[in-house]
Amino acid sequence: MRTFETSYDEETNTFLKWAVTIYRINTYFMKRVLYITSLSLLCFFSCTPKKQAPTKPKLVVGIVIDQMRYDYLTRFASKYGADGFQRLLNNGFSLENAHYNYMPTYTAVGHTSIYTGATPTNHGVISNNWYDKKEKKSIYCVDDNSYQTIGSAGDAGKKSPKRLVTTTITDQLRLAQNMRGKTIGIALKDRSAILPVGHTANAAYWFHGGNEGVWVSSSFYMNSLPTWVQEFNKNGTANDYLNQPWETLYDIETYTESIADDNNFEQVFEGEAKPVFPHDIKELRKTNKNYSLLKAIPAGNSFTTDFAKAAIKHEQLGMSDATDFLAISYSSPDYVGHIFGVASKEIEDTYIRLDNDLADLFRFLDKQVGKDNYTLFLTADHAAVEVPSYLQSVKIPANYFSYTAFKAHLNKATKRLFKSELIIENVSNFQIFLDKEKIASLHLDSDQVAQKIADVAMEYPAIYKAVTARTLQTTTFTHGILHTLQNGYNQKFSGDVLLVPSPATVSYPKKGTTHGSGYSYDTHVPIIFYGNGIQQGSSKKKYEITDIAPTLANLLQIEFPNGNTGKIIEEVLE
Ligand code: ZN
Ligand code: ZN
Repeated sequence: MRTFETSYDEETNTFLKWAVTIYRINTYFMKRVLYITSLSLLCFFSCTPKKQAPTKPKLVVGIVIDQMRYDYLTRFASKYGADGFQRLLNNGFSLENAHYNYMPTYTAVGHTSIYTGATPTNHGVISNNWYDKKEKKSIYCVDDNSYQTIGSAGDAGKKSPKRLVTTTITDQLRLAQNMRGKTIGIALKDRSAILPVGHTANAAYWFHGGNEGVWVSSSFYMNSLPTWVQEFNKNGTANDYLNQPWETLYDIETYTESIADDNNFEQVFEGEAKPVFPHDIKELRKTNKNYSLLKAIPAGNSFTTDFAKAAIKHEQLGMSDATDFLAISYSSPDYVGHIFGVASKEIEDTYIRLDNDLADLFRFLDKQVGKDNYTLFLTADHAAVEVPSYLQSVKIPANYFSYTAFKAHLNKATKRLFKSELIIENVSNFQIFLDKEKIASLHLDSDQVAQKIADVAMEYPAIYKAVTARTLQTTTFTHGILHTLQNGYNQKFSGDVLLVPSPATVSYPKKGTTHGSGYSYDTHVPIIFYGNGIQQGSSKKKYEITDIAPTLANLLQIEFPNGNTGKIIEEVLE
């Protein structure tokens, strides 16, 4: 038994050893196979180069819509198509709580702040027009008689960005690429074409209306218009647009987002009896400065788009190894807003039509530059207040401010207090400039005079706050309306007493609307980023208009504009 057992055991043993060996060999190979398979799978997912978009955009497109309130994105949303605003909202990154962080919220200041990442405190463009303390006269932000008009015989092109004292993001891009890469500014308004592209631009073009109807430039940029601009000016596009009536794009009965077409809160075009559709543009151009009327109708946006597309094509933007920058500003919504107001059918139709123009531009960029090759942002240079007389009609406090009446109020006080009516030199942009020589000749202390005048200004009904320049020089306001006022204050260029009007208070006719304050209705604007390097999503965090430029600088991996006070919006970037 033992033997048998032994022999059986031995046999069993040998058999088991074999089995174990084979099992071990098998396991070893299985493990190897598994190891190799997983390694190759890992390699497939991590080592295989992905088909990626270029690391840097070949073209950056900045789109500024003049006087676009944030709520125009939401109010007219049901009327927008899929390829305009909605395309940006669905595929880009939208900042729902973005604001201007200074006053006055005017066009020149807005465009400059977007592109410099700075406020008037640093960039020096304190308004569209302002009183120059040194020259002792009112000046316009981009006037410069040392240059000639290119493309017309008049003064429309005697412009430059000389009053802008810092660099723009577009300047930084030119510097970073050793002046390779083109930057071009386009807008119907000169200031909206010039200021975004700073000091080093290859070109800026704006529209000269009147009886000429041509795109012009300044000898600051060039000595003659490129052939494609000359040809565009001769191709009859402006006339085509001006020979069509302005009717609503869809049945006016469906425009339920706005008040009645005929109302008491809208201006009319010169020669029109009522502010109602259809507007006979062909007839009205005769009484509204001919080609200049194109600026004040939605066709002005289509016309701007046509010109921008021609620039992309003929200047070969987005086609070289360097990154190009095209700054487009749509000026017409501002003119329409000023005439007809925020709640008008005209504004609703202007945005519905602008949505189509944007879709057209985006499709062109896809085709010409390539879907993954461009980065785009869209914002506004300021928003606008609901027509104050309309607000009054629905019992909301609103007011009108008269500079003439206010100056008379101040002069009466200075006569009583200082025995002189010559102390106030100028009042503009809600700033009071004092005659320092007059004050010295009266042996008065200018700081005490300024404080007295601030107190007197506070007695005026429509004034909400009045502070002296000295206060702004010696105090740091970290939030609220005085922070906004301080960000708009420039020690070199601003006045001696700075005023904040009451909410919904404007210096404007009782029909139509305007902007300029530091209140939310003027500061809340859309900011949407889209395309190469941009995340998909939205944010309700509070951001400031000065955050656009440093965010772009980070995306492009270039230096910030030299007066920048904004911050990088991290959540926007991939
Ligand atoms: Zn504007
Ligand atoms: Zn405006």
